Amino acid sequence: MAPSVQFPGNVFFYLIFVSALVFFAYSAYVRIYLLLLGKPDLRLDRLWERIVSFVPLVLVIWRVIRPRYWYSGVLHLAIFWGFMTFQLNTINFFLEGFSDDLSFMSWASAPWLAYFPVMQAFEILTLIGVVMALARREIYKPPRLSLNWDARIILGFIGILMITDLFAVAFQIAIEPFSHSERAFFSNAMAETFKGTDVDVLKAWHTTFWYAHLLDFLLFLNFLPYSKHLHIFTAAPNVFFRRLQPTGVLQPIPNLEEQEVFGVGRIQDYTWKQLLDGYTCTECGRCQEACPAYNTGKELSPKEISHQLRQQLLVNASDLLPVPVLNINVTGERGVPLTEAMGFNPIWDCVTCGACQYECPVFIEHIQAIMDVRRYLVMDEARMPETAQATLMQLEQRGHPWRGTPLGRTSWIEEMGDVPMFDGSQEYLFWVGCTGALSERNVLTTKAIVRLLNQAGVSYGVLGAEEGCCGDPARRLGNEYLFMLQAQQNIELFNTKGVKKIIASCPHGFNTFKNEYPQFDGHFEVIHHADLFAQLVKQGTLKPQEALAQKITYHDSCYLGRHNNLYDSPRRIVAGLPGAEAVEMPRTGAQSFCCGAGGGHMWVEENPGKRINQERTEEATATGAQIVATACPFCLQMFEDGIGAVPEAAEREIKVYDVAELLDMSVAPASAVPEAAKADPPQGQSEEPVQQ
Ligand code: SF4
Ligand code: SF4
Repeated sequence: MAPSVQFPGNVFFYLIFVSALVFFAYSAYVRIYLLLLGKPDLRLDRLWERIVSFVPLVLVIWRVIRPRYWYSGVLHLAIFWGFMTFQLNTINFFLEGFSDDLSFMSWASAPWLAYFPVMQAFEILTLIGVVMALARREIYKPPRLSLNWDARIILGFIGILMITDLFAVAFQIAIEPFSHSERAFFSNAMAETFKGTDVDVLKAWHTTFWYAHLLDFLLFLNFLPYSKHLHIFTAAPNVFFRRLQPTGVLQPIPNLEEQEVFGVGRIQDYTWKQLLDGYTCTECGRCQEACPAYNTGKELSPKEISHQLRQQLLVNASDLLPVPVLNINVTGERGVPLTEAMGFNPIWDCVTCGACQYECPVFIEHIQAIMDVRRYLVMDEARMPETAQATLMQLEQRGHPWRGTPLGRTSWIEEMGDVPMFDGSQEYLFWVGCTGALSERNVLTTKAIVRLLNQAGVSYGVLGAEEGCCGDPARRLGNEYLFMLQAQQNIELFNTKGVKKIIASCPHGFNTFKNEYPQFDGHFEVIHHADLFAQLVKQGTLKPQEALAQKITYHDSCYLGRHNNLYDSPRRIVAGLPGAEAVEMPRTGAQSFCCGAGGGHMWVEENPGKRINQERTEEATATGAQIVATACPFCLQMFEDGIGAVPEAAEREIKVYDVAELLDMSVAPASAVPEAAKADPPQGQSEEPVQQ
């Protein structure tokens, strides 16, 4: 109900209401205009899936309320739902401002009476959420949060909004109780305490709280576009338009051969969706807390990358817009090249592990944003770490990334003998991969895989000297053109040879064939060897028999686990080894910590800070395991390198094996154990080692 004393009257209401709306419209125009400067990106595929998943992801804010962040989840649920429920009241409030007759719910109507107790309960709930949020910021102060004034102001606005409404209703009841006013249970109880107060005083208080509520709401509305809480408007569309492909997939540059500029060198070169990501970042810091680069003292913070998306757009808005731009709460210098604003080192620190994207409650896509700038650095400016440049040259000249290897693509075949060549008659092409063929340690895994395939009677063949690089290193190192050529060559070869199904022993190749070759019209059924062998063990085709009485911890490769949701098969292989005891590391499954080799970092020098593989090896060592199992050749090498750097791991002579090697030892001990076991941790490989 509008205030019974309307000093200075409705003129005041109209004035502030219209001014606030005009200013909000201007702020919204600026932000929408800037967003639409972004490149096109159609995000309407799998529409039904988007609609169905909207309910848990947005209405139940499913990602916000993960158990690890339960406190934050509870407070956000309280504020989110309290605020949503409150909006019906807000609409009614403004209608009342124009005229009591316009209010679509008269005090005594049935819907209003039903809504009243619910709304008051949610107002209390919202206040509890606000207090919890303030306690988190002012007392617990988790390092991942940005403890700036922005959040305090917003929490203040929300708290005042609830309090002023509760008081306005309480004074209204005290002036003149309405029918069933007891349903406004909290305000009704407050009204009891005002009994005996002069009615004119009550009216003055009612008017004061009514206008305070109005002003608070309008100020709150107008502060939002200038705050990180812009996500209140943008989170829902950002989640709806999220990419539904696996997170490890990089997008191609459209019409690459016709482009003059590659990647992203200016903020407006991002797509509209990437710019929306910038608006949506809540600065919760969950991505940063999970990031292996940040955790090991590198310059990269994925939270800062998201922050820069917004800051760079707004700080340069005056150059991009036809109207003057009011910039409040924006940091950064206008006109600074994007590569400098984001930072050369942070762009190269990223190992594309996807931990940030898994944790982000609003589905921000950090990897593509980082890789777009990396592409620009490589393809437009030729600026990259020396080791990245050397690897890309090696890929161009020799067709593989392993500088200095004494092995050829077929060395292992010559050693093993009798390995079938793929001729189109077999069911599977076994793609060995550069590392599986050219790194001495990983050749042991390749041989174990071949023995198991033979033992199980799988119909397969290999390409031998015809095999090239899958393209993952070139793409992750920012040379999209080289990747495109490699992908096209492989697809042509596969089609010529009649390849339909591929066994990949490297999760990076697996991801590339399965998820990225379709971008170039290469459609193949791809299986990782861990998945295939887990199936063969389940069917009884492969029977582990030799006891491996060891404590084994399995490390999830990012490109198998987080990026491709393959967590169980390797674990089932380990669990099925007679006598083996499986133990998990604290960061496991989807929350696994990268080994440090993704994003081309197998061959790129790691920036100063603790080595990522050392951090992960320490975690594996702390489990007490004697064996670290992996299903990735890069992880395997990273762990072997890490064991050398972690004294306890070296003292305990912890070994690292691919799950295929472990299965091979147990299934066919006579052939497998000697070779795998006699491989003392092969630190001194003759090919170019993991970068120190
Ligand atoms: S992908 Fe991994 S390394 Fe890159 S920003 Fe995200 S968490 Fe950090
Ligand atoms: S990018 Fe996502 S996880 Fe990171 S701070 Fe922003 S909202 Fe939080």
